[in-house]
Amino acid sequence: MPDIAPLELIQQISREVKVCSLCELQHSRLKAVPGYGQSSAEIIFVGNAPDFFEDKEGLPMVGTAGLIFDELLEKENLHRKQVYTTNMVKCRPPNDRHPEPLELATCLVYLNRQLEAIQPKVVVTLGQSSLQRLMPNAKLEEMHGKFVEINGQLYIPFYHPRSVVNNPSLRPVLEEDFKKLITWITDPKNDTEGFNKISVKEEDKQEQLSLF
Ligand code: SF4
Repeated sequence: MPDIAPLELIQQISREVKVCSLCELQHSRLKAVPGYGQSSAEIIFVGNAPDFFEDKEGLPMVGTAGLIFDELLEKENLHRKQVYTTNMVKCRPPNDRHPEPLELATCLVYLNRQLEAIQPKVVVTLGQSSLQRLMPNAKLEEMHGKFVEINGQLYIPFYHPRSVVNNPSLRPVLEEDFKKLITWITDPKNDTEGFNKISVKEEDKQEQLSLF
């Protein structure tokens, strides 16, 4: 059987997410938000959960945070069509509460399939919740902009563009982190020497790294 192309896989996942009823969040959503962007992107941005605007549109990173995201990409000569953007859970939780562990665990299957299809060079976690799914004790103010390789996959935590809406002083921080990411990705060597490398044992993966 021939390999299925990334685009086809991503489209299939999106179709499944849009009608998914695997967890309770099916009841609080207006529209599921599978993700948006290039199916062979080198960079995938992963936020926590859809917000009011994303839920309304069925698209990730819209509203004011979306405008900021576009500006940050544009500053590095990128368009959101060239990257992939999604969330850990694909449906908005009621009153924007944090997704429950069971909801996260259930929805994880889609993110894992997206990562498998896209095979990005770098996964960018957006915000504290997304970072903590990856590294439970990590603090965003210490970890943002630092590349970490975990079990062979490269990650870099960022502040969520939404946080700039409430705290404009974070904008230059985010700009600097974007610059760092793009400088690395456009360097043909893509050297990872000097990056923090973490190996998580298979039996600990569920506990420590239940995302990704
Ligand atoms: S949050 Fe994920 S698992 Fe739950 S209903 Fe939505 S798509 Fe399905």
